[in-house]
Amino acid sequence: MQKLHTANVATVLDSATPALVACGDPLVRRMHPFTYTGHAYRVLFGSGTIAQLPAEVERLGLTRVLVLATPEQEDSAQALAAQLAPRAAGVFAGARMHTPVDVTEHAMAHVAAARVDGLVAVGGGSTTGLAKAIALRTDLPQLVVPTTYAGSEMTPILGETREGRKVTQRSPKVLPEVVIYDVDLTLTLPAGLSMTSGINAIAHAVEAAYAQDRNPVITLMAVEGVRALFEALPRISAAPRDVDARSHALYGAWLCGICLGSVGMALHHKLCHTLGGTFDLPHAETHTVLLPHAVAYNRGAAAEQIAAFERALDVSDLAQALYDLAGRVGAPRALSAIGMPERGVAQAAELALSNPYWNPRPLDIGAIRRLLGRAFAGLPPQGD
Ligand code: NAD
Repeated sequence: MQKLHTANVATVLDSATPALVACGDPLVRRMHPFTYTGHAYRVLFGSGTIAQLPAEVERLGLTRVLVLATPEQEDSAQALAAQLAPRAAGVFAGARMHTPVDVTEHAMAHVAAARVDGLVAVGGGSTTGLAKAIALRTDLPQLVVPTTYAGSEMTPILGETREGRKVTQRSPKVLPEVVIYDVDLTLTLPAGLSMTSGINAIAHAVEAAYAQDRNPVITLMAVEGVRALFEALPRISAAPRDVDARSHALYGAWLCGICLGSVGMALHHKLCHTLGGTFDLPHAETHTVLLPHAVAYNRGAAAEQIAAFERALDVSDLAQALYDLAGRVGAPRALSAIGMPERGVAQAAELALSNPYWNPRPLDIGAIRRLLGRAFAGLPPQGD
């Protein structure tokens, strides 16, 4: 028995070592010190897993849960409330993008009136954001059922909008207790939104791998998450109801969400937040357009980390591969195509530098202006 156990450990180590080396992070190869913080959530993954929601609600001892959704997904929320009866206390289908505080206050009135003791969120990042905003104020337990690839369910981050200004904070209070990934619920996500949402997830992983506080565990997840999404997105674009492709995409998005929640983000996320906030550009589309350009900008300074993705994807230039992927799946590649005004290029460059995030390559106003100019016009990425 002892011998078998030892053999198993050796097999695990043998198979893990090439994966660690393959991820190419200098932290792994030179084993520099690092800090890894694991978040405690329970994850159920598969096809048909939503059937386990009532048991999960019961396991947490909840008797009056409020089901949250956007207006577009109210039918899904009503179906879940019916499935949860008599443990459901109602549906609030008013979630909106960027978690406006007035929507949260409206939902809080329902929470108080119906004596709610738990939250079920079914939808994308907007609905998860509403559940997190309520949890921040009440500490109510959350069960989240993600139906996009945004990954918010894996992060202790909440961005809220008050009078048009978005403020982001981190708190362990907003982490969901249970996440149920049911691939079947993602089949209806429109192909276009699936592509931009998937590339949004890839952006979390890419920036996590070259983050200042990166660590080898997160880098493994980053490389695997990007590999899974690169493989799945073209298949979903061709056949949006392909359950196997959808499974790989959701699995990849889960890993990428963990990356976002675990380490800091850099230039790419700063540019997306600046453009989204200043010009009201759509979230996932902005990520999709900018990511190849941010990778090209950082390629020299984060060569080893970016090479880990190139090895896993068998490509020679990650920035170009991301640009090609967007082209192949019909995702936007130009800021001009998603509502950015041309005069915004110079303004955005200055704003991005005014309160910058840490970035592997020092920020250079001229180079960032050129980066944004290329992204505005939809040109291929070019490091300079
Ligand atoms: P979303 O939640 O706004 O969803 C977009 C639209 O698609 C909505 O109308 C939604 O109802 C619909 N939809 C979602 N899933 C569907 C499905 N399976 N079938 C049919 N329709 C579906 O979009 P998103 O990109 O998931 O989330 C964006 C928001 O999430 C932004 O506010 C962003 O800031 C936030 N976000 C937060 C974090 C975080 O860690 N705090 C991370 C990522 C995103």
